[in-house]
Formats: sequence, structure tokens, C-alpha cells
Amino acid sequence: MRIAGFVKTALSEWEGKNACMILLPGCNFRCPYCNRSLIDSDASADHAEAVDYIKTHRDFVDAVVVSGGEPTVHPELYALLKDLKSLNLKIKIDTNGSMPDVLDDIVGAMLVDKVCINVMAPLDDASYTAAAGVVVDAGAVRRSIDIVSRSGVACEFRTTAVPGIIGSDAMNRISESLPAGGSLIIQQFDPSAARDAEMRKTVPYPTQALVRMAESSKRHVRNVRIRGA
Ligand code: SF4
Repeated sequence: MRIAGFVKTALSEWEGKNACMILLPGCNFRCPYCNRSLIDSDASADHAEAVDYIKTHRDFVDAVVVSGGEPTVHPELYALLKDLKSLNLKIKIDTNGSMPDVLDDIVGAMLVDKVCINVMAPLDDASYTAAAGVVVDAGAVRRSIDIVSRSGVACEFRTTAVPGIIGSDAMNRISESLPAGGSLIIQQFDPSAARDAEMRKTVPYPTQALVRMAESSKRHVRNVRIRGA
């Protein structure tokens, strides 16, 4: 399978793990604040090269994060995860949650140990479509959240606090719809590499605003953290 990038040391991607990261190209969303140039990338390497690296550094590497772009749009994802699992690694996948059937398959086959769902907006079609830049069936994301929450696999949810898109009211509605025992990361918006030119001019919320969002979210979700502020 062609991949867009391989990060040999990605320690901050999975707390407590010596993780590598495999980045897959392409995404079915077009979030205006996206700073992942990979969504328009041509895949440049073969995943076998990443697997070879992991094999030869197995003493150090104990986990792999598969991210993107959006990993679940790739039919070859299942085979990639099987290859990685055969190395007895812990695997985390990052997803926008739009492909619940794919998630159901890989979680059901125990090919992942952790799932991070990026929740882009309150879980109704209009909010989601505005945030993702394409028409989105928010019911698909709700189903993904349900599948992962019931699976017994570790899961966390992540939402970027983007001025003009996700404010305190939207963050509150998002946290209300997550499992009460779950984990939510409120991520600071980084305008520097946003796809949309207007977004690159948008000033991020001050840290204190994110702290208030986190405090409010804690009424609905047990474990809330802030990242990047
Ligand atoms: S933020 Fe995530 S879901 Fe949105 S376009 Fe970028 S990679 Fe896709």
C-alpha cells in the first residue's frame, strides 16, 4: 500500500507508548481549518518500508499510530493493520468517524487497540456539513462513536476549537453527545497551515477560553484535556 509519510518517533501521539506514525493520503472531508496537506497528497512510499523499519527497531517501537488524511477511505487499510498486528504491536487509528462499517470491521477483528475519533462539530447534518466543507451524514459519525464506545477498545474523542466554527456552545453540544465515561481532547486551532486563506487569518482562542470550554465539557465527559494551548 502506498503511504504519504512515516514518522519514526511520534511519542506525543500516544501517551506512554514508543510510537511510530504512518500517514495515509486523502480525505473525504474538506475542513477549511485542516492543516494536513496530506489530504491532497500523492502517496510517496510503500508501507513495506515502514514495516521493515519497525521490524528492525522492534526493541524500541511498541506502537503504531495510523493517521492521515483519513485512513478509513482506503480499502487496503485492513491489510495494512493486519501486517502491523502480526508484529505484535499496539495500534491506534485516527479517524473522522465517517465510515462506521470500516470501523466496525477493524474493531471487530481486533486490529486496533485504540481509536481516536475527531469530532468536527455538533452531531447534526447542518453543523457537520458546515464544519467539514462537504455534505456529511452526521448519523454515520454517531454510529462510529457508538461502535467504538461499545467495543471495549480504548477510545478518545478530539475536537479542535476553531473560532467561527466551534465555540463554547458547539463544544458543549459535542460533549453532551459523547459517552459520559469517555475522554475528550480539546485541541487548540493552529492557523499557520490552514487550507483556507481566511482561516489562516483567524486568531485562535486564548487559552482561558479553552479552559472554560473544558470545564463546561467536564459536566458531560469524565476526562477532558486541552492540547496545544
Ligand atoms: S481535518 Fe481531518 S477530516 Fe478534516 S479535512 Fe483534514 S484530515 Fe480530513
